[in-house]
Amino acid sequence: MDLLSDRLKRLSFSQTFVMSNKAREMKAEGFDVISLTLGEPDFDVPESIKKAAFKAIEENFSHYSPVPGFLELREAICLKLKRDNNLDFKPTQICVSNGAKQSIINVLAALLNEGDEVILPAPYWVSYDEMVKMMDGKSVFIKTDYTTDFKMTAEQLENAITPKTKAILYSSPCNPSGSYYTYEELKSLAKVIAKYPHVTVISDEIYEFINYETKHTSIAQFPEIKEQVAVINGMSKAYAMTGWRIGYSACPDWLAKACEKIQGQMTSGANTIAQQAAITALQTNPAEFHFMIEAFQKRRDLVFDLLKKIKGFKIFLPKSAFYFFPDISYYIGKTLDGIKINNSDDFAMFLLEKANVATVGGVSFGSPECLRFSYATSEKNLIEAMKRIRELLNNIEVN
Ligand code: PMP
Ligand code: GLU
Repeated sequence: MDLLSDRLKRLSFSQTFVMSNKAREMKAEGFDVISLTLGEPDFDVPESIKKAAFKAIEENFSHYSPVPGFLELREAICLKLKRDNNLDFKPTQICVSNGAKQSIINVLAALLNEGDEVILPAPYWVSYDEMVKMMDGKSVFIKTDYTTDFKMTAEQLENAITPKTKAILYSSPCNPSGSYYTYEELKSLAKVIAKYPHVTVISDEIYEFINYETKHTSIAQFPEIKEQVAVINGMSKAYAMTGWRIGYSACPDWLAKACEKIQGQMTSGANTIAQQAAITALQTNPAEFHFMIEAFQKRRDLVFDLLKKIKGFKIFLPKSAFYFFPDISYYIGKTLDGIKINNSDDFAMFLLEKANVATVGGVSFGSPECLRFSYATSEKNLIEAMKRIRELLNNIEVN
């Protein structure tokens, strides 16, 4: 008897976790695997943030918080949005969630009826398409590639909008491509979006501080679409707090209330200890945490040089976030060591099995010709991983 829902059957497991679990299992079996799968900073949570969490435990922050989060945290988020992004939000417009992942799901659940369309510029973050499916929506993809720096143009966006479009969902800085939209590019996208008031932009800005070129711009800053933008952000990347599970949305009033309604039935307020720690994190000058971004940049430059020596990789210097997303189409359709490579997932599996380096194929990011790996790990790991891949691929017969 098949008891599972049709909704469940439409879903895939998160490929980032599939590959990181595989790496973990192989390590447990004694293989010396280097995992470049999950995008998470390898730094410890900064001491001041940890202290705030200890204090919250001692002060008995052990009861339910309001569903959208403690008022003090929502006020700190509003100040942060003003300080870093020049955005004006009220605490009633903020909903703090169990990670940015939940914040995005809240917004999609609030917006989508069956068959509603969500525009996803591809490559997109793995979970977007699955989240849209979970909420009975339909993803409409705008394919981009390295020739346009993996970014959609205003014209492409406008061509994809239909009367059924409910939302546009993208990350800038982008996981996986490492591109970001400039002020001018966002302005031209905003101009299009303003013409379609039935469309909401879900702007995932979780990598805002990890930008090696410029200060982040939020699309919410364009007044003509302010009522059409849900800003998503969180503590995972900038503060190395992935396991603490704090994200948030900043929405127009009508949408913020809807997120609170959904979250109140789904999970209630996020973890109270982590919420208290997030207040300290957000009230600290971001410059104090800049050492992590400097380390990421150094690693990026290191890996870029090493990647140039690998046969068959077309590489692009990522300008933000902490992923490389090389085009590996040279290997697709070929046979390597007797193994047929049909797409980048096969290729990722090949690297894992033959070089003991775990990466994530681009299929679930909407770019089957690319391969993603995170460089948010030690230089030692990165040097060794690149060496293993180079030695494998530069010496293998490709048929
Ligand atoms: N958006 C993007 C683009 C991500 O890469 C991730 C994964 N870290 C998330 C959202 C979810 O982050 P969180 O840990 O806050 O759920
Ligand atoms: N977001 C990170 C990534 O893209 C962590 C894993 C996940 O949430 O999917 O690897």
